[in-house]
Amino acid sequence: MSSRHDPCSQPGLLHPDAAIPLLLEQVNAITATEVVLLPQALGRVLAEDLVSAIDLPPFANSAMDGFAFRHQDWQAGQALTLIGQSFAGHPYLGDYQPGTCIRIMTGAPVPAGYDSVQMQELAQVNGDQVLLEAVKELGENVRQRGEELSQGTKVLHKGCHIGPAEMGVLATIGIAQLKVLRRLNVAFFSTGDELMPVGSELGHGQIYDSNRYSLQGLLSRAGVDVIDLGVIKDDPEAIREAFINAASKADLVLTSGGVSVGEADYTKQILDEEGQITFWKLAIKPGKPFAFGHIAKAIFCGLPGNPVSSMVTFYKIVVPILNKLQGLPQTPPVRIKATLQQAIRKQAGRVEYQRGILSTSADGVAKVATTGSQGSGMLTSMTLANCFIVLEQMQGDTPAGSEVLVEPFNYLLD
Ligand code: AMP
Ligand code: MG
Repeated sequence: MSSRHDPCSQPGLLHPDAAIPLLLEQVNAITATEVVLLPQALGRVLAEDLVSAIDLPPFANSAMDGFAFRHQDWQAGQALTLIGQSFAGHPYLGDYQPGTCIRIMTGAPVPAGYDSVQMQELAQVNGDQVLLEAVKELGENVRQRGEELSQGTKVLHKGCHIGPAEMGVLATIGIAQLKVLRRLNVAFFSTGDELMPVGSELGHGQIYDSNRYSLQGLLSRAGVDVIDLGVIKDDPEAIREAFINAASKADLVLTSGGVSVGEADYTKQILDEEGQITFWKLAIKPGKPFAFGHIAKAIFCGLPGNPVSSMVTFYKIVVPILNKLQGLPQTPPVRIKATLQQAIRKQAGRVEYQRGILSTSADGVAKVATTGSQGSGMLTSMTLANCFIVLEQMQGDTPAGSEVLVEPFNYLLD
């Protein structure tokens, strides 16, 4: 194919899979840590390996409500004598006696000398005589001490993201405080003379600044501290001042608008003077123009102004950067195959992230429809959608009934 007809040979147009590693090469993880109490640890990144100081479970306990007995004491059709009880938090403290059993509840310690539990549904109680039925192997229904992990085992690794399950695991091993990475600071502002704050009247040619709100939503869900610097006018000195101010406060400076052809020259000049920035043309739609670099000690990402473009670029490009800054793994998005419900028009040349509505038919087959018009300024396409329909760079028009790949939205977008 001659390069003239190859849509991917557009000068400077870079596939996101090629661009992201190049960007990430320029990003270093922060190292500063702080100690937080467990209730404050949610959403943070663990900065130390955590080893359990206890066995889990810490003592042999019952997995059922029933009767604890010694396996070798049991014979089919012969009752055992009930001599005590062990409830959660209230162990049986007496000695083992041959031919006996102990009433026991889930989570209660299995008394010394006893080794098995039969569930109460399989017991016939007659006064202090308990007939256990269908007894199987030794140790049945007993959760052994240390069976999940033993003292000294590494439970959570440095660099792990602390979610609800990790919170519970930390508590299970008795961690009251822990070392985590300090939170990232992200400063962001919108640029554009047309942008008005909500609460004001729109004049002719003006629109409300929406990007700051979607970005704030994305950043908050990403668990970073946000510094909202408002709307900055398309004025070189105002923009310069905003860049310098933002970079002095943040690990990452995020802007929207002013990176497309026409406006870029203007932003570029200031950024060339104040930092090291590259203007990229990414082979993604929406979201082609993207600026990236450093201002002072901060990373800078200049997102396109179109509202869908700025969200998609954040999701696809900024999230890997936030992960790298926090030393988190880059987990590839989950993609699933779905049957396309209507034809899609597409030109080869860029990877498209069309907004889609994914559902499953009664027999569990995934199907997907687009949200309709896919203009990069139509933010309602994002509120209607629950997934991206991912159409690869060289793909063209795609007929109804085709199998397409979709990426369900994750918690950042839902
Ligand atoms: P720009 O990237 O500055 O050329 O802007 C591209 C398009 O996005 C224009 O239609 C802008 O009016 C629009 N736009 C830029 N910034 C915002 C914003 N913060 N909120 C809503 N629309 C915006
Ligand atoms: Mg603009």
